[in-house]
Amino acid sequence: RQTKAPDYLSGLNPEQRLAVETTEGPVLVLAGAGTGKTRVLTTRIAHILATGRAFPSQILAVTFTNKAAREMKHRIGVLVGEASVEGMPWLGTFHSIGVKILRRHAELAGLRSDFTILDTDDVIRLIKQIIQAEGLDDKRWPARQFAQMIDGWKNKGLAPKDIPEGDARAFANGRGRELYAAYQERLKTLNACDFGDLLCHPIRLLRDNPDVLADYHRRFRYILVDEYQDTNTAQYMWLRLLAQRPKVGREAPPSVLPDISPSRGEIGQTQATSRTEGSQGRPAVAPDGAPSRSEPRSGDSVSENKVNICCVGDDDQSIYGWRGAEVDNILRFDKDFPGAIVVRLERNYRSTAHILGAASHLIAHNEGRLGKTLFTEISDPEDAKVQVHAAWDSEEEARAVGEELEQIERKGGALNDVAILVRASFQMREFEERFVTLGLAYRVIGGPRFYERQEIRDAMAYLRVVANPTDDLAFERIVNVPKRGLGDAAVRQVHDAARALGIPMLEAARKLAESDEMKPKPRSALRELAASFLRWQEALDDTPHTELAETILEESGYTDMWKADKSAEAPGRLENLKELIRSMDGYESLRGFLEHVALVMDTEQTEATDAVSIMTLHSAKGLEFDTVFLPGWEEGLFPHQRALDEGGRSGLEEERRLAYVGVTRAKRTLHIWFVSNRRIHGLWQSTIPSRFLDELPEAHVEVADAGQSYGGYGSGGGYGGRSGFSDGNAGRRNPYGASRFDSLGGGASGGQGGASGGQAGGRGGSGSQGGGAFSNTYA
Ligand code: ATP
Ligand code: MG
Repeated sequence: RQTKAPDYLSGLNPEQRLAVETTEGPVLVLAGAGTGKTRVLTTRIAHILATGRAFPSQILAVTFTNKAAREMKHRIGVLVGEASVEGMPWLGTFHSIGVKILRRHAELAGLRSDFTILDTDDVIRLIKQIIQAEGLDDKRWPARQFAQMIDGWKNKGLAPKDIPEGDARAFANGRGRELYAAYQERLKTLNACDFGDLLCHPIRLLRDNPDVLADYHRRFRYILVDEYQDTNTAQYMWLRLLAQRPKVGREAPPSVLPDISPSRGEIGQTQATSRTEGSQGRPAVAPDGAPSRSEPRSGDSVSENKVNICCVGDDDQSIYGWRGAEVDNILRFDKDFPGAIVVRLERNYRSTAHILGAASHLIAHNEGRLGKTLFTEISDPEDAKVQVHAAWDSEEEARAVGEELEQIERKGGALNDVAILVRASFQMREFEERFVTLGLAYRVIGGPRFYERQEIRDAMAYLRVVANPTDDLAFERIVNVPKRGLGDAAVRQVHDAARALGIPMLEAARKLAESDEMKPKPRSALRELAASFLRWQEALDDTPHTELAETILEESGYTDMWKADKSAEAPGRLENLKELIRSMDGYESLRGFLEHVALVMDTEQTEATDAVSIMTLHSAKGLEFDTVFLPGWEEGLFPHQRALDEGGRSGLEEERRLAYVGVTRAKRTLHIWFVSNRRIHGLWQSTIPSRFLDELPEAHVEVADAGQSYGGYGSGGGYGGRSGFSDGNAGRRNPYGASRFDSLGGGASGGQGGASGGQAGGRGGSGSQGGGAFSNTYA
């Protein structure tokens, strides 16, 4: 009797189907963006469940973000019915699965199962204590820097004893290893672990306890990993441990470890109603009516030795090298898992021919790649080419994007299908403010909105106290940020004094600093802080507020705190602080600015409504939208100067992969923007169009008509006016030749262009003054 392929399979192409139906043995799907890799994984899970090959609890599936995990669960539910999915307890990110394993076997890692997970602040505080306890100078050897080193080691799966000599020497005159060991000891005493431990503890406990490992080998019949190109060494080790079975067929005695914390959908629990239960609670008949395979039992060495692992990825989308991801993992797959079949998918189901053509041509400029062909059948003579737009500055860029969005709305399009993908988070502010003004709903994905970011809230807290010395909430936020030796006890003392006397905390602090009720160290810290606030308040009326804000951030040590921070996020935070200062420019006074922010903050970020998404390119991985805007394609911003400085050619290639990720998020319409001036740190800097623009194929790209909808940009005049600061430019002219976008709009749109030309001339002075500053800004 011929059985028809189930619905969920019929939509797949032959290669996708091969990857879905080859359930046994290792499979690697190596394919470009939008070819259905994630869809293959989802369908594969559905297939495994529908054919009764495994229970939901026997499938380990790793996604890159929690959001992706939720989406995948949802999609599997749609394919095979909510009931047969039953939660999928082992579907999540590496970290979320790591926590789960660690909670079940905490004692094997020297922890109790109720261990706490420390955040970065906790970690730094702890490390600082250790550094001080060792009698080291924590100014010379900053805790943040060491936290970063530890994180790097943990990404490589290295315990203190594994640290190579040279590495350990890099900190505290060769005492790095010893300090790392002391830190791990402290964590144990505190019954705590950090983020890196969520990977490292499971690796070690699985390696050191063969019986536990064997239990997981029996449990996980099928392993699936999305975005495999971005796994780091520790994640890779962890996967290999779980996926690789002992070579010799000799099995450990067939013992089934008791379930320590059975969760929904685990063995022995009532299964979905769509299944007929067999004698041991195993499905005897699959939902589609086909006879189920006999379930392999423990000790059933034939299938136990097979590694049913399926990884999908794209070497061209490896964008986390800066965080320790190893693209080599994907290239090594068939050596790690002998007998692997490698499936290549070449049909892109996402984008139009123009978008795909642009993406393929762009990524072809990278040397270190496997190379692949991609084609699409989405092709309509009506399809727009990739639109490249020029704007005078970022404000105009935001204004023009806002107009495009309004047009989409007017035509009945959904904002949910639109995304703005930025290279650096500081770029978001301008869009957010524009959208608030226009009343356009937006949401920021993968991070807080601009004014909700930690560094922005901190900086704002300083400004609030200066503007309003009775703002206790703000004062409390920054009283010990950066750390100035005011511990909880000292802060409580200020608090109590303020309450007892019925005065604001700042005033209480001033009084306490003069009394002898406090220990000398916190007392002098309070005295200094109170004096600083007094000075800043006095300067309020006769110093330009942007200048004052800068002074405050410098004198308080706040900027220095982030400069000393060696974490990957720190440079972005410094950029955001600069952007904050820059954004104050448009307001008469500090108070006016603070009021504005309070109003912007008040607009709710609603989940349900139709809203445009704003996010960084990094967090856009795996997603797709009808219309995508990519602003800020300028040298120094994208490719980012920092990546170029630190990473040389490989840094540039990672930036280009990021551009490829950005371009390939678009299904139908793609707009790329560059501005001719970015106001950075209050200074106008003329910019050079990104080299990536030149790398787009002319056949698929068109320059949006300057005069069309934005009243002639002003960029025409802007370019004319650029000669005003061409001297400042001379030393850093486009090193790879003239850009064909260089003269974009030059001489266009007479009247208005002239007007902005004048503007450009007027600002030329500051532009050339800041001549060298541009390249420093991102350094
Ligand atoms: P990325 O590399 O960006 O993560 P991907 O390879 O994971 O992309 P998917 O997101 O799985 O690609 O698929 C891209 C789009 O194409 C999705 O909208 C998906 O539903 C659709 N798609 C994939 N395969 C098919 C198919 N056989 N028929 C119709 N649509 C498909
Ligand atoms: Mg995907």
